[in-house]
Amino acid sequence: MAFEGLTSRLQNVFSKLRGKGKVSEDDVNEAMREVRLALLEADVNFKVVKDFVAKVKEKAIGTDVMESFTPGMVIIDIVNKELTELMGGSQAKLSKANKPPTVIMMVGLQGAGKTTTSGKLAKMLQKQNHRPLLVAGDIYRPAAIKQLQVLGEQINVPVFSLGDKTSPVEIAKQSLQHAKENGNDYLIVDTAGRLHVDEELMEELRQIHSEIKPDEVLLVVDAMTGQDAVNVADTFNKQLELTGVVLTKLDGDTRGGAALSVKAVTGCPIKFAALGEKIDALEPFHPERMASRILGMGDMLSLIEKAQSNIDTEKAKEMERKMRNAEFTFDDFLEQMEQVKKLGPIDQIMDMIPGMGKLKQTKDLKVDEKQMGRIEAIVQSMTKTEKQSPDIINHNRRKRIATGSGTSLAEVNRLIKQFDEMRRMMKQFSDMMGPKGPKGKAL
Ligand code: GDP
Repeated sequence: MAFEGLTSRLQNVFSKLRGKGKVSEDDVNEAMREVRLALLEADVNFKVVKDFVAKVKEKAIGTDVMESFTPGMVIIDIVNKELTELMGGSQAKLSKANKPPTVIMMVGLQGAGKTTTSGKLAKMLQKQNHRPLLVAGDIYRPAAIKQLQVLGEQINVPVFSLGDKTSPVEIAKQSLQHAKENGNDYLIVDTAGRLHVDEELMEELRQIHSEIKPDEVLLVVDAMTGQDAVNVADTFNKQLELTGVVLTKLDGDTRGGAALSVKAVTGCPIKFAALGEKIDALEPFHPERMASRILGMGDMLSLIEKAQSNIDTEKAKEMERKMRNAEFTFDDFLEQMEQVKKLGPIDQIMDMIPGMGKLKQTKDLKVDEKQMGRIEAIVQSMTKTEKQSPDIINHNRRKRIATGSGTSLAEVNRLIKQFDEMRRMMKQFSDMMGPKGPKGKAL
């Protein structure tokens, strides 16, 4: 996950301050020196770092950090606020045309993730009950049109294409007409990319721009490329007047510098962050939540939003009823795992829970996808009756399940023990709560 190095370095700085009852100006200076190094190491633009540290220092010395009994907390608060400001302050939302369709032009270098992001954005808009139309405007990269068509099919969003013989300007023009005639309220135009910024590409993009007059020009940049991403953004912005940036590949091992520098260098807000190759791995970019994640303070708000949009509330209610009545079976257990998986890779979910990011690094808490896969295999190797009445799973049955799932007897035993434990706790809890609420026992 991105920012890991930065997060742990910043946490070290803060924990040193936290250990102190009172801090001196020297302590603040020393902490700021370390913050500066941490940011530089995370590949944040040199000038941005300089300004950032100066601002934090000024605030830290100006406020009563040195008088405070919790100086560490005060400094974290200042850094948190400044990081948020650095990334744009508040969420920059997608503009909307007064009269539909809202036209979004996607630009960027080849391989940045433009086509994938166009599909993700279409899916996101569709989820919000809009009717997007995707436009295959990259006629140069051999597989780009096909790639968009496959994506469109996968998410059930129409794709407008005139093949690779018509000019992109003409394609864009006709697609706009098509959207108007077919009631599409969002038009997402995928354009060609190059390996490097060149004049020919810019000229083509400018022509498309003047033809369709987009409400949004979103530049897709690969966060893994660090400062290069920022330079690309700067160049595009000077030539095209971007309205926003989409940072992709934040799921990778990026140090995060691009996310922290783009807004400050270009003045252009980050509107979305992409955290994976899957079609739903796109999130609106919230500077305050990102700052909180960087500082290892989690991001419960994003997690709750993910849960709300992905979890079936009817199923959740039914599950709660089963738990209360201690009717929970292995089938329900699998179902629960499925629901959790819908939220995204476990690794990313853990990062959103305050404190979990750090805990995750401890060996005993390695909850990974592979492990979840093994647990699923064990449950799936059980017969229908075994799943419904786990109590009948004796030694012989356990041996058969281990062989069937390609796991070991010890793993099967462990899972069943954990499951029993879970059921026991659910039962205790529901006994305590009773059908109408607490029975007055201490929890
Ligand atoms: P384009 O040339 O800009 O249209 O780039 P593509 O959309 O074809 O993406 C290039 C590669 O990056 C593909 O293999 C994508 O699956 C991958 N990709 C795009 N976005 C992300 C992301 O957020 N995370 C990861 N890990 N891969 C991504």
